[in-house]
Amino acid sequence: MCGIIGYIGNRPAKDILLAGLKLLEYRGYDSSGIGVILPKKEKICIKKSPGKISALEKILKNCLLTGGTGIAHTRWATHGAPTHANAHPHLDCSKRIALVHNGIIENYEQLKKQLIKEGHVFESQTDTEVIVHLIEKFYKNISIEEAVCRALKLLNGSFALAVISSCEPNKLIGARSGSPLIIGVGEGENFIASDVPAVLGSTKNIIFMEEGEVAVLSRDSFKVIDL
Ligand code: GLU
Repeated sequence: MCGIIGYIGNRPAKDILLAGLKLLEYRGYDSSGIGVILPKKEKICIKKSPGKISALEKILKNCLLTGGTGIAHTRWATHGAPTHANAHPHLDCSKRIALVHNGIIENYEQLKKQLIKEGHVFESQTDTEVIVHLIEKFYKNISIEEAVCRALKLLNGSFALAVISSCEPNKLIGARSGSPLIIGVGEGENFIASDVPAVLGSTKNIIFMEEGEVAVLSRDSFKVIDL
């Protein structure tokens, strides 16, 4: 078990994500990481570390990350050792899309082979990384949620995931199939998380996502679509 949290709102995502990760600590983990969209720069800043969340906290202490859209993860490694490179979030080749994932992608080897043939360059040994490259492959003249839906249709296995794109900084995408994910509805801010405690400090308005659902969150609205 391990955890995901995503935030979109007007407060600095970094602080909320870090606090959320600590509240998900009970689920067990071997590494952690966060990704935040840098305002006005169209860039995602990723920080991650093997080991305890305190190691990530130390790295983040001197980081001026003011963005209000971000995702974070505690990892329990299933594919690839608990190293810096294998910690989430993972990025696509263009570094526009970042993704965190809980679960196992059973057909990742076959997908990875095909993506490498098509020119994608992988930086980790995880099963997860295929998802972000698949999204990249489809992310041409369509929205990030549409690209996510197309990618997810090709996966066998289990997932709860959170995705952000620096091209659409006012969106946070969540999806689940076989692993839990909830939406926390706040005022002028919204959350996704693996479990309720991660967001309870900010909102008591919780929606439990169903199997095969994809959520598209902005600061003051959300919609849920069926895969
Ligand atoms: N299978 C993925 C990995 O090994 C996700 C593990 C998890 O659920 O934390 O990175």
